[in-house]
Amino acid sequence: MNDSAYPEHAGTRYMCVSINVIEALQQAFFAGRDLGRVIPSIDADMAAVIVAESLEADRAWNLPPQQVIEELKKGTTGDFKRAVAAEIAFSVQQFALERGNKESADDWWALGMSFLEEILDSPTASPLLWYEDIFWEVAEALRGRDPEHTRKAIGWLKRGLAHNLHYNEGNNAPNLLRDLAEFHLEAGDLDAGLGLLARLVRHDPADVWNYNLMAISFDRFGLVELGIEGARRGLQLLQARGDPEELRQQLEDSLEELEECQERGREAEVAPEVLADLRAALALDFEAGPSRSLEALCRELAPELDELPLKRPLRPADVPLPDRDSPRFRPPPPRPPADKPGRNDPCWCGSGKKYKRCHLREDEEQERRYRRWLLGQE
Ligand SMILES: [Zn+2]
Repeated sequence: MNDSAYPEHAGTRYMCVSINVIEALQQAFFAGRDLGRVIPSIDADMAAVIVAESLEADRAWNLPPQQVIEELKKGTTGDFKRAVAAEIAFSVQQFALERGNKESADDWWALGMSFLEEILDSPTASPLLWYEDIFWEVAEALRGRDPEHTRKAIGWLKRGLAHNLHYNEGNNAPNLLRDLAEFHLEAGDLDAGLGLLARLVRHDPADVWNYNLMAISFDRFGLVELGIEGARRGLQLLQARGDPEELRQQLEDSLEELEECQERGREAEVAPEVLADLRAALALDFEAGPSRSLEALCRELAPELDELPLKRPLRPADVPLPDRDSPRFRPPPPRPPADKPGRNDPCWCGSGKKYKRCHLREDEEQERRYRRWLLGQE
């Protein structure tokens, strides 16, 4: 997708490995060097997977635009290539929107989304992608369109939560559980959403984000009274604990809007025991602190997590390296290393060494080759 003579590496917003790293690994591969010794945190197996996946994606990325689009419409395999395909589809969508072609934009959006859903459904995980961003973005895009899409969104959120628990120790679990509560409310399931929120508040009464959710979104669900209670509770917490997240203004503005709201509240539709439970949680001492591990909380709030399919990391056998001499894959042309660190700064490869003691010489050599390559183009 570029019109210069100089081929580019494929990229997507969901990548978790930098172009510098991909470049270094591809060069080591074509030079026949040991792939396990290029980047300290990347072993030989992971490096081989990265090289195989990135070469195939680069090949597609550098086809003439019409051919890229034809190839994508035929469908594509491999999560990284699908993510790159989604990226291309979304940029064509933007292009169509700018030209006022809403119908075509919608088609491209749907194609991009279908690639993302295929990624989430495939059994393996590429080391090149942030899956949690994809789970969340797909859920976010589907929610609120209609109850059926919102239920699908809830399914993806739960898969994202299972992934986060398994691979990242649940470091994003409170946010995902909060999203889950919000999505239930959006789907019209007030009891499930509020029941979940009550247990989140109980888990940590000093987590201001639970009160913030009530303050900024509850008018949308017709829960104005509860929104006011949440906003007031959040402001009390800030009063007691300080305002490190700088939420005071937002809470005050939301409170003001909620108090002016004329609509009748839907609190009457909520099961009385759910309402009582949430109000009891809102009256807890801020010092009560997290009562159990995040993992236990997740399993309590979403007991089906263990049954959900979990991706397994890709292995070299899943994506064999291409033949080094195949005309299908060219060695990457030399390119100027982007954003070189200072000589005494830590190297980009993550070795922890100073740049001058690590990849500096290799990068300078690459730059010289790039200049020679440019001269040859003239
Ligand atoms: Zn280095």
